[in-house]
Amino acid sequence: MRNQRGEMENSYDSIGSKSKDVSLKDLSIRLAEFAQVRGWDEYHSPRNLLLALVGEVGELSEIFQWKGEVGKGLPNWSADEKEHLEDELSDVLLYLVRLADVCGLDLGQAALTKIIKNARKYPVVVMNQKSKSTYN
Ligand SMILES: [Mg+2]
Repeated sequence: MRNQRGEMENSYDSIGSKSKDVSLKDLSIRLAEFAQVRGWDEYHSPRNLLLALVGEVGELSEIFQWKGEVGKGLPNWSADEKEHLEDELSDVLLYLVRLADVCGLDLGQAALTKIIKNARKYPVVVMNQKSKSTYN
């Protein structure tokens, strides 16, 4: 992207400063720009992006491979291990977002819709006093 003076803007200058909130739309716009300025659009077919996504899921899996059960919050993990996990989770997310974008899908809206579908499929079972007492 060029600024008003025609200079290339570096949208990565703010890396390191924490964003308050990041939307899937923000990510897909950044990813589209990232690919466009590098001439990578022709390689970003749905099939290629899916295969890249699967590769990243493999890299994510390697982090947990042979560790046994891992506790919530990752107790006893080093800062480097946590950063590695952040990197691989991000790779998975970014390929997923890019895949949805090149397919012309609104992933955020689709995910919200899927949560509603899941809620209908798995309704909350409210036990009445009688059935609760059977567990006592
Ligand atoms: Mg990776």
